[in-house]
Formats: sequence, C-alpha cells, structure tokens
Amino acid sequence: MASEENFMRAPAPTPKRTVYTEAMEIFHRAADLIRLDKRVRLELEEPDYEHIFYVTAKLKDRLIPLSPEKAKQFSDLPETQVRNKEGLEALANGNIILNGRALLGSDVAIRQGHLRLPDGKVYQLVPGESQRFKAYRVQHNQARGPYKGGLRYHREVSLDLFKALAAEMTWKTAISEVPFGGGKGGIQIDPREYGREELEAITLRFMYRLKSLIGPNIDIPAPDVGTNPEIMALLYRQFSDGERERHNLRGIVTGKDVRIGGSEGRGKATGQGVAFCIEDYYADRGESVKGKTFVLQGFGNVGSHAANILAGMGARLLAVNDADGTIYNGDGIDVQALSAYVQDPKNLKRSVLGFPGAQKIEKKDLWDVQADILVPAALGGEITADIAERLKVKLIAEGANGPTTPEADRVLQKRGIELIPDIIANAGGVTVSYYEWIQNKRMERWSEAEVDQRLERAMKRNYRIIRDISRNQPRKTDMHDSRQYCIGETVDTRCAAMILALKRIEAHYLLEGFSQ
Ligand code: NAD
Repeated sequence: MASEENFMRAPAPTPKRTVYTEAMEIFHRAADLIRLDKRVRLELEEPDYEHIFYVTAKLKDRLIPLSPEKAKQFSDLPETQVRNKEGLEALANGNIILNGRALLGSDVAIRQGHLRLPDGKVYQLVPGESQRFKAYRVQHNQARGPYKGGLRYHREVSLDLFKALAAEMTWKTAISEVPFGGGKGGIQIDPREYGREELEAITLRFMYRLKSLIGPNIDIPAPDVGTNPEIMALLYRQFSDGERERHNLRGIVTGKDVRIGGSEGRGKATGQGVAFCIEDYYADRGESVKGKTFVLQGFGNVGSHAANILAGMGARLLAVNDADGTIYNGDGIDVQALSAYVQDPKNLKRSVLGFPGAQKIEKKDLWDVQADILVPAALGGEITADIAERLKVKLIAEGANGPTTPEADRVLQKRGIELIPDIIANAGGVTVSYYEWIQNKRMERWSEAEVDQRLERAMKRNYRIIRDISRNQPRKTDMHDSRQYCIGETVDTRCAAMILALKRIEAHYLLEGFSQ
C-alpha cells in the first residue's frame, strides 16, 4: 500500500496538451527569457474570469429540401404560389425560413407537411422549436485597462479556445499600446443556419445574460468570426435599452456601423494593419510590395480587406480559399471583382467558389502555390508542421489568430520562412477599436484619413520595436524606441512580440503593485 510519503512523491501527471497550453508555449518561452516576475507570471497564466452560460431562443418554422429521391413520392404535388416572397429567407445551408407572413394570400398545397415551392423543389415544413446555445466570455487580464476582445459565432468553439484567444488579446493590446486588457467570447452556433430574426433574438438574449459582466469601462466586445456591425448594433441596443444616458454607453461595443458611432476605417482596420506590416517588412529590406505575389486563406472581413489593400499596393493575389472552396489564377485574381462576386446577394454562401476569373483547385493545393507572401486569415491551427514543410512562400503575415501550430513554427524557422506574428500583424482591428471607443467617449468623429494615419504610425512603430528585439538592435529613432525592450540576444519574431507584450504588462504590476 502506498504510504502518504510515497503518494506525495508521485510524479505530477503530465498536463494535457490543449489549444490553450499550445498557445501559451510562447508565453512561457518569452517569460523565461526575460525572467518575468513570478507573481506576474501566475497572474497571466490563467484568465481572471471564465464565464459559461446558456442562451435560449424560439426558432421559426423552416422548409427543409427533400432529396430528389424522396421528392419523387410528391411528384404530383401542385406548386404553392408565394405572393409575399419577402417572407421566405433562404439560408446558406439550403433551408428556408418561413416567416408567418410568407404565405399570406397564397394558394397553399400541403401534403403530409410537405409543399412544393416555385423553384420546383419539395420541402418538408418543420415547425420552429426552442433551442439552447452555449455561450462564453473569458476575461483574461485587465492590468492595462478594460477587457477587450471579439465575439465569435461559430460551431467549433470551446472554453479552451476562448481562453487562448482572450490571452492573445492581452498580448495584442499591450503590443499596440492601447489601454485595454484581453477578453474573448461568443456562442457555439453556425450563424449560416439561422435566419436574420433568429440571430437577432439570440444576440439580444446573449447580451441580456452578458450585461452584468461587461460595460464600456469594464469589458468591451467587438466583431470576430461570424459576427459583424449589425450584431454589434443589436448588442448596443440591448445593453443600453431603457438607460437614461444611453448615448454615453455607445462604447460598450466597437466595430459598429459608422452611422451609429462606429469609426471610419474600422471595417478594414485589421486587413489594413496586415498590409501596413507587410509594407514595412519590405521597406526595411529596401523593397516594395509592388510586384509581389500572395496567397490568402479566408476571404471574410480580414482576408478580403487585406487582399484589396495589398492589390492596391501593386501585389498580385494568386490563390484564395474559404470554408467552401479554393480558387487559383497564376496571372493574378482581380480582387475587386472577386469582392463584388462574394458580396452579390445571389451568392448565398458568400463564397469565392465559382468566381469566373479563376479556376477551382483542391484546398490542400493552396499550400503548394509558389508566392512571396502567405496571409492566413481564417481560423486557428491551420498551418500544421506538415503544411509548413510544403509551403513555397518567403513570408507569412498572420491575419488570423493563432493560425500556426508551435510545431509548424519550428519548421518555418528551420526553413527560414519569415513571420509577422498575429499579435502584431492583426492588431489593426483592436487599435482602431480603441480609436472608436475614444471617439464615443469624446463624442467626436475622426476622418478616415486621420484614422489611417494614426493606425499606420502605431502599427509600424510597434512592428519596428519587435524587429529590433528580434535582432537585438536597441535604438531610438524619430518613430520608435526599442532600447528598454531588447534582451541582449537575438530571438525569433514571435518571441520578440511576446517579449514586448510582457514587458509592457509587467511594468503595470511592478509600478502599480497588486491590489489585495
Ligand atoms: P470572417 O467570419 O469575416 O471570415 C472568416 C473567413 O474564413 C471566411 O471567408 C470563411 O469562409 C473562412 N474560413 C472558415 N473556415 C475555413 C477553413 N477551414 N478553410 C478556409 N477558410 C475558412 O472572420 P474575420 O473577422 O475575417 O476573422 C478571420 C480571422 O482573423 C480570425 O482568426 C479572427 O480571430 C482574426 N481576427 C479578426 C479581426 C477582426 O477585426 N475581424 C481582428 C483580429 C483578428
């Protein structure tokens, strides 16, 4: 029988490797290198708060298409004339939301709960039921200011993922010198499977639950994957509803439409920031973006804006993919035409697939395209070690959060592929979110040129400090001062970015002390 002494000496179980522990590897590496204060390390290792809660909503009736095989048994079912077409809302997954008013005044032929629409297809009518969704908000750290970070609506989310993304925000807000901490959250939902009014109800209920946890000086959400300015408007409405000073609460979310207090330039800010970093990377080498080629993963907010801006700088997009497919054109893809194609309301999936100016290729072949730059702008963990071995690019600028696994990072270093890490490359979004928040507080409105100018200075200044840390080249120029951040040895760029973040956060704890 194991004595108590033996039990005490039993080796600690190896901690399970998770998205969070993987994401924190670089934190530990940088913390070791700068001998981060032990207590600061403990403060940063785990989030301040992890909230998990549930959101319920009543869904609407749906029409679900039958397979051609099953539809045969209804071959003589007459067509239902739809007088009020606006009452039908087609979803990206092929289902149709049937609003109560849709069939008003129409001749309806229903058999065993099935009807045929004017598109010729037979649909099963499924009554709307209530559904429960899991929701999260992780508040990682607030040493430098209110928690700040996006809300994601996506099927594949978890507490572990949001912990990793919230910590990333803590590093990113420190790197971009905005007075915020880090947070992240969202709902486990595929928004493409729900109608506009359903998403509205879910979002309002989400904020109803979230309201006691956040505030314009406490925790400020923003858009992320699957959310957008419309969702931000709903969140603002729900948060401020009935409040006497609701105009003072506009800063509760950023990424709003400019007509209701959003900032000029916020929509494109993350893509713009990626492009500023790439521009500065080449300027540092005495080169320009003009004539360079690039490959892009993801054509959503970040990807499409980055592509448009890089194309405007004279770079050529060779291949791009999204969740639905991959396209390639060796002569270059016309990014403006592609954006128009994706935004066309007829393109229900908002996908690049089927774009006439390029050919379809397999997703796996995206990684084999030879180009100067790769911009991952989709989800995390996409560039694995195997993919890193195959890549035929010279520079990766991480538009997405955490797109490269730690193993892939090591491969990239071995292969000499250069990296602009996510916590600087995609910091443009949170930087302009800060500008939006200030404008809301001051009731001001800045022009797009002013926003862009400030963003360019902020991105390039901090990216230069990171490059200096990486090269161990302490110096002061008109634009930046890296002397207090270099550590006396060279490090890779991802580690350099983390060193900058940790030194800035640590200063708060060391100078202000810890509240008891
Ligand atoms: P989005 O929802 O607008 O776009 C996501 C894109 O990725 C879509 O084109 C989607 O089809 C594609 N995609 C999804 N899964 C894919 C897959 N498996 N393979 C290829 N493509 C896939 O989201 P977004 O706001 O552009 O965010 C993209 C990334 O950038 C995320 O990692 C997000 O956390 C990060 N980010 C966003 C912002 C911002 O301001 N929106 C700021 C910083 C970082």
